[in-house]
Amino acid sequence: MRQSKLFTRTKREAPADEVAKNAQLLIRGGYIYKNMAGSYSFLPLGLRVIEKINRIIREEMNNIGGQELYMPSLQDPVLWKKTDRWSDENVDVWFKSQLQAGGDVGFGWTHEEVVTDIMRQYVSSYEDLPFSVYQIQTKFRNEVRAKSGIMRTREFWMKDMYTFAATEVQHDTMYETVAQAYGRIFNRIGIGEKTYKTFASGGAFSKFSHEYQTLAEAGEDVVYVCEAKGIAINEEVLEEADLSELGITREELVERKSIEVGNIFSLGTKFSEAIGLTFKDETGESHPVIMGSYGIGPARSMATVVDLLADKKGIVWPESIAPFMVHLVGLNLEDPEIRDWAEGIYNAFSDRGVEVLFDDREVRPGEKFADSDLLGIPYRVVVSRKGKEAGTFEVVTRKTGAVRNLTEQELFADLVGE
Ligand code: ATP
Ligand code: MG
Repeated sequence: MRQSKLFTRTKREAPADEVAKNAQLLIRGGYIYKNMAGSYSFLPLGLRVIEKINRIIREEMNNIGGQELYMPSLQDPVLWKKTDRWSDENVDVWFKSQLQAGGDVGFGWTHEEVVTDIMRQYVSSYEDLPFSVYQIQTKFRNEVRAKSGIMRTREFWMKDMYTFAATEVQHDTMYETVAQAYGRIFNRIGIGEKTYKTFASGGAFSKFSHEYQTLAEAGEDVVYVCEAKGIAINEEVLEEADLSELGITREELVERKSIEVGNIFSLGTKFSEAIGLTFKDETGESHPVIMGSYGIGPARSMATVVDLLADKKGIVWPESIAPFMVHLVGLNLEDPEIRDWAEGIYNAFSDRGVEVLFDDREVRPGEKFADSDLLGIPYRVVVSRKGKEAGTFEVVTRKTGAVRNLTEQELFADLVGE
């Protein structure tokens, strides 16, 4: 990709009304555009990051046997009345509308009802269980507060997985398998170290659910955490938690702000009973299916990465989700010889399948470097007259600021392991 062709531009200043660091940096970098409070566009650079996050999520969900599907946003009230979740008294985030043909319709804010209804057609025997399905789909929620940039929007992607089991043992096994996959996902996107599987309120079916909470000042949640023992408890359930059972004392727990990037939840038979999802056991006796639900917010995760890893100069992407691996910054391009050299190395990267953004614009070097710092691509490779004379490229690692001068051969050995 040539930066001269990218329709987005970096900005020196963030919009005055944007208070969240994630949105300030992402807007300045041209990753996202704020359409209105709680509603953002993902521009080409931002979409590349989201797609990388989604790819990691998909890999991990597929690896544990999750089958991807896609369910609609438009919701039939009849179904939601069965679980008492249609009324605005019980659910305060609904967006609703009317059909021209008459009748109400809702915009999906989660999909337990929908997925349970679908499975009535496909589950009849214990032999059909266990299994899991997931989607990465747009949710709508009429959130009261929307001041945290892309951490909390009124329209957002969610990866939601649902598990279906015949027995508690089957359910617990799947729950643990998903928990481990979540650990891998947050490690892979670069926030694993600060992300805790946290005890949270469980509803009626298990004592606790688990939230994946990332410690961050920008967080809207409060957790009590013992970093040494890797234990975290949401403030909502601190009173209920049996600390001695967890091998911890109150004094060891420190209050911290955190961001809920995901959660996993045992649903028991609440939805299957209300909607009529049952299976027959070996003796022909009918039982409600035991379910679990598991969410991750890809954009909230992206915002968390920005918030945690950014430095004074701008965003710092981990390689795993960076929009490009290499930012090729061309200086002295007015000189045809240098231009040719730069084009050659750009093609060499592209030929090797390395994702490269080539700053081929006619702007001052200082501006190019400032933009490069703001964009946060892991490796900056500078092509310049000085470098051409020495036969080397200056390679700057964004995360550490380390600078090396490498020949073409060393460059490809280093970046693509040739
Ligand atoms: P919160 O308590 O922060 O409102 P929630 O408990 O309502 O979150 P879930 O319904 O469990 O969240 O949604 C699953 C995941 O979707 C969350 O862990 C989060 O990563 C993401 N998510 C939830 N609400 C939003 C939102 N408004 N904008 C962006 N992502 C969201
Ligand atoms: Mg919420």
